[in-house]
Amino acid sequence: MNTTRRTQVVVAGAGPVGSVAAAYLAQQGIDVVLCETGHDCAQDLRASTFHPPTLEMLDELGVTSKLIEMGLKAPVYHWRDRKSGEVLSFDLSEISDVTRYPFRIQCEQYHLARMLSSRLEEEQQAEVLFGHRVTFFEQDADGVDVHVETAIGIEKIRADYLIGADGANSLVRKWLGIEFDGFTYPERFLTLSTEYPIDQAMPGLAYVNYVSDPQEWLVLLRVPSVWRVLVPADEEDEKFLLSDAKKNQVFDGIMGDGAQVETQHRTIYRVHQRVAKKFNHGRVLLVGDSAHLNNPLGGFGMNSGIHDAFNLCSKLVEVIKEGADAALLEKFDRQRRKVTFDFTQRQTMENMEIMRAGQGEAHKKRREAMESLAGDDEKRRRYLLRQAMFESLEQAASID
Ligand SMILES: Cc1cc2nc3c(=O)[nH]c(=O)nc-3n(C[C@H](O)[C@H](O)[C@H](O)COP(=O)(O)OP(=O)(O)OC[C@H]3O[C@@H](n4cnc5c(N)ncnc54)[C@H](O)[C@@H]3O)c2cc1C
Repeated sequence: MNTTRRTQVVVAGAGPVGSVAAAYLAQQGIDVVLCETGHDCAQDLRASTFHPPTLEMLDELGVTSKLIEMGLKAPVYHWRDRKSGEVLSFDLSEISDVTRYPFRIQCEQYHLARMLSSRLEEEQQAEVLFGHRVTFFEQDADGVDVHVETAIGIEKIRADYLIGADGANSLVRKWLGIEFDGFTYPERFLTLSTEYPIDQAMPGLAYVNYVSDPQEWLVLLRVPSVWRVLVPADEEDEKFLLSDAKKNQVFDGIMGDGAQVETQHRTIYRVHQRVAKKFNHGRVLLVGDSAHLNNPLGGFGMNSGIHDAFNLCSKLVEVIKEGADAALLEKFDRQRRKVTFDFTQRQTMENMEIMRAGQGEAHKKRREAMESLAGDDEKRRRYLLRQAMFESLEQAASID
């Protein structure tokens, strides 16, 4: 098969992470081809929280002000106890000495992916190919042949490097044969979105609320157009989970009279904690969900993927443009894989335990631990820095 294109980097997947990687490289003068299976960036209701250091990074790509304009500023988030109604409030303005963005931005992830991919379409250094699915690749000492399926045939793109940003079911990871160890939670997660003004029924809600409960914990998040509710779904029957009966049950539990609430979306997710054994393999690199998966409690999946993309692409620029030794890419793996285990995996699992709350004595102990953290200035500051992901970036930077 003839090679149809020649480029320096192919990025597989125009999700938030792939779009960021491609935009970063193009901005640095590197030729990049972004291939996306879909005919547009997927408009699904997944990530909605952008943490402060991610906003700082995205500012380098010139998109943070637009995200702030499109999204909602959430300086405060709540941990709530469903039974007692107790609210612990965490305010990011307490760390305004370390960031110019002391808040989370609540905005759906597809706005970022769309914004970046349409900007890339205008750039000379970049090509965005929707309806192009990466199906196979072969690497040799000098580059990678990337085979891409379109509606009418197969194309071959010759690149110096291939970045797999192709999500949880990453074909790039599967072809590499890299193990993806971890586990899948037995329960699935159900997300419902509604334009119903939940905050009027529950005054004092923050834009981000984690509500712990041993029977049914939940997350209540505001994005500009809707409130989103996330609950664990133990029932096997998918039809029931998506039914009005289930919707009524969820909203009955939150504010009573769930029947009056209309929903805009109902989606069921399977949730995993998994990490690829290696993030680099010669000229093929993994970032974002293709490299690691975690539960959404804390909002770290997309954010950590964007942190991967920045880490990797800054090194790729050194290798491609400045002739640095390709061994530098090993450092990307060492830095990002270590923080994936030490921070993202650990913290999300801990967050899940807090949400589940436990019964009796266990519940009491967890409440006491959270209260003591919220009430102690130093512990609370450390907690804010950790949950805002500053600590994980500091740790990564300290690894050689
Ligand atoms: C309910 C829920 C809530 C969440 N909330 C948050 C949050 O608030 N904050 C947060 O940080 N994270 C959150 N996450 C996680 C977040 O959604 C993911 O971590 C994020 O989408 C990962 O981005 P990605 O670009 O790596 O992968 P994806 O978003 O999955 O994008 C992958 C892209 O690759 C394309 N693709 C796949 N295969 C190929 C191929 N072979 N060739 C070409 N293209 C391909 C896909 O079509 C897709 O567009 C949440 C997840 C869930 C389920």
